[in-house]
Amino acid sequence: MNGRMEILRSIGKYLPKGGEKKALREIQHFGSRIFDSLAEEQFLPKKVAQHLAEVRAGQVRFDSSHADAVAEGFRAWATKAGATHYSHWFQPLTHTSAQKHDSFLAWGGHGRAIEQFRGKELLLGEPDASSLPSGGLRVTHQARGYTAWDPSSFPFLWESAEGLTLCIPAVFYSWKGEALDHKIPLLRSEQKIQAALQRLLSFCHIDDGISFSTLGPEQEYFLVDGSLYSLRPDLLLAGRTVFGAKPPKGQELEDHYFAALKERVMAYLRDVEEAAFALGIPLKTRHNEVAPAQHEIAPLFEKSILACDHNLLLMELMRAFAAKHHLACLFHEKPFAKINGSGKHCNWSLGTNRGMNFLNPKEDSLLFLTLLTAILRAVHEHAGLLRASIASAGNDHRLGGSEAPPTILSVFLGDSLEELVRNLAEGKTASSSEARRIDLGLQNLPLYEADSSDRNRTSFFAFTGNKFEFRAVGASAACAFPVAIINSIVADSLELLLDELDPIRERQNLLEASLPILSKHLKHALPILFSGNNYSKEWQEEAASRNLPNIRYSFHSFGELSEKKSIRALEEVFTEHELESRLEILYEQYAKTLQIEVGLMLEMFQTQILPAVQKDIGQRSTSLGKAQQVGVQSSSQLEQVEQMSSLLDQAIRVSRELIHLRDQTQELGWEAKGKVFCELISPKMHELRTSVDTLETLVDDALWPLPKYREMLFL
Ligand code: ADP
Ligand code: MG
Repeated sequence: MNGRMEILRSIGKYLPKGGEKKALREIQHFGSRIFDSLAEEQFLPKKVAQHLAEVRAGQVRFDSSHADAVAEGFRAWATKAGATHYSHWFQPLTHTSAQKHDSFLAWGGHGRAIEQFRGKELLLGEPDASSLPSGGLRVTHQARGYTAWDPSSFPFLWESAEGLTLCIPAVFYSWKGEALDHKIPLLRSEQKIQAALQRLLSFCHIDDGISFSTLGPEQEYFLVDGSLYSLRPDLLLAGRTVFGAKPPKGQELEDHYFAALKERVMAYLRDVEEAAFALGIPLKTRHNEVAPAQHEIAPLFEKSILACDHNLLLMELMRAFAAKHHLACLFHEKPFAKINGSGKHCNWSLGTNRGMNFLNPKEDSLLFLTLLTAILRAVHEHAGLLRASIASAGNDHRLGGSEAPPTILSVFLGDSLEELVRNLAEGKTASSSEARRIDLGLQNLPLYEADSSDRNRTSFFAFTGNKFEFRAVGASAACAFPVAIINSIVADSLELLLDELDPIRERQNLLEASLPILSKHLKHALPILFSGNNYSKEWQEEAASRNLPNIRYSFHSFGELSEKKSIRALEEVFTEHELESRLEILYEQYAKTLQIEVGLMLEMFQTQILPAVQKDIGQRSTSLGKAQQVGVQSSSQLEQVEQMSSLLDQAIRVSRELIHLRDQTQELGWEAKGKVFCELISPKMHELRTSVDTLETLVDDALWPLPKYREMLFL
């Protein structure tokens, strides 16, 4: 019996734990594992707590003379809860987070062991950074990378088998002071958008507090059984299946979306939610997604800085609890071919600490119209850059499929807003449309007010009432990168617009006086608007006639980062040198990902699939031979064996071509390597997969070594 069969027999024996726990999401546990303002009151001198609040609001720089007091407060709180270690928690350019633990252990007087945490340890850490991606910002013999406490997020307690660790959110930079993480550019982009928004508020003569961007990332993921997962080298090492035939039933019955969550999934989610609540992650929504075994989890929106931290932490929690529940949680953009992949829809808006949302549509509001103009201008001008901000080898499998927007960037505004924009672009002022009411013909239900726009699930960047939904972001991506790019290009456009508007700022009717300038920019940006079906073939043609970039493969979009206009729009957020490093890392990660996938395909083919197919051919040939001996002839049975044999021959031939192509890339740099992988090797990988997937549907089920889609997706 092969491993797959063994696991299939034992799988039902795993029982989800649960039942003994009650009311897990009790609200009083919310934030119990973060050092928030409540803990500050208890564990910090009043003066220091006040200072921290001002630092967090971006009003002053942290005064290092308070560092010892803060560190001691953190330690006292953490050790009281049972923590033994501390760690700077940072976000290297890997789309995951990193930690390096140190215990609080120190020598006290007379050689006694004590627990201690000093200000200088809080402020600065020095991991040996030579093994984290730097894109040339640091060479191995200058390996210093520094982590520094980032007071904008709350420290938290991370629980794992070893116990509790005090995690201190940190930024990560090189010896020369260049950003080696996703966090520094995000923080800088917040400063940039804040400055532009303050200028907008002042231009409109509005006083409304401190502004920032807000984010609510909807996270899609797959859950599969842990034992089946461990039998798939491809899922284990690449997060996606490089082989796998489509099962007779996939998602076509549309019976999974919003269906009741399975017991096993619920037991898992309750643990995840409990831990997330304790860490102050405001989870709100959970539901089944379109594909079998696919789900979504979404929080309440927060300031982007917090939301990005929380999304990374949530992904970590989800991975960790999956292992405890004997499951595997997959964040790859396309773990399974031919069914929907996973995205991380980044709902993005701009708001103030007094609760104002800048994107609440008001057609007579100078503030809203100016901002909307700036956003449309930014997206139109930097469409290629936005494409690059979500580019990865994984996302290429998803973009343009039936679950994700195609690679043409367009904006969906909804009927009424689009009409308004088109009118303004022609210099006409808008007509306000009456709210539409929906009558379901049921006497006991109230009349519901219709949303001002329908949803457009096919759009790259869709306006959804009072926020934009950036749907193209991949499920595994750290959203800090695309959000930093959106913040920067919008801030840049807004500043340009305000430069033009400045001379008229003292005019009586400011809105009327501003319209010609807004109108000019809107007119220019109109080609980016599209409300039709983005999946249609006509749109491809239409977009080409509008000169909108359509970069099908991520590899070809990376270069957008080094375009002059990108460099300019990203000023103050990325230095030119930092952008070069990002570009280098994108090429490197892309080529390495494909290199790993090719390696997996070849190894799985050689060591698992080929022997299984040969065994089946051998067995069938033997029985056919025996049948012949007793006078039974069957040409159709023979043909079947021949078909298997010829598919196998074909697969062997393609695998040799793959080896040959891959070997030729050995001496190449990352960019050149990526190009070969993208343009020559990818199509061959597809070819090998097609033969193997057909073989999967022919070979004796008991001999097939890899868990099949139906087993991973429906159990
Ligand atoms: P839908 O279900 O139509 O996609 P929801 O209102 O449920 O829309 O919100 C989806 C996501 O958008 C949630 O994660 C939510 O937190 C986020 N969101 C809502 N308002 C904002 C906002 N002003 N800024 C950022 N994200 C937001
Ligand atoms: Mg949703």
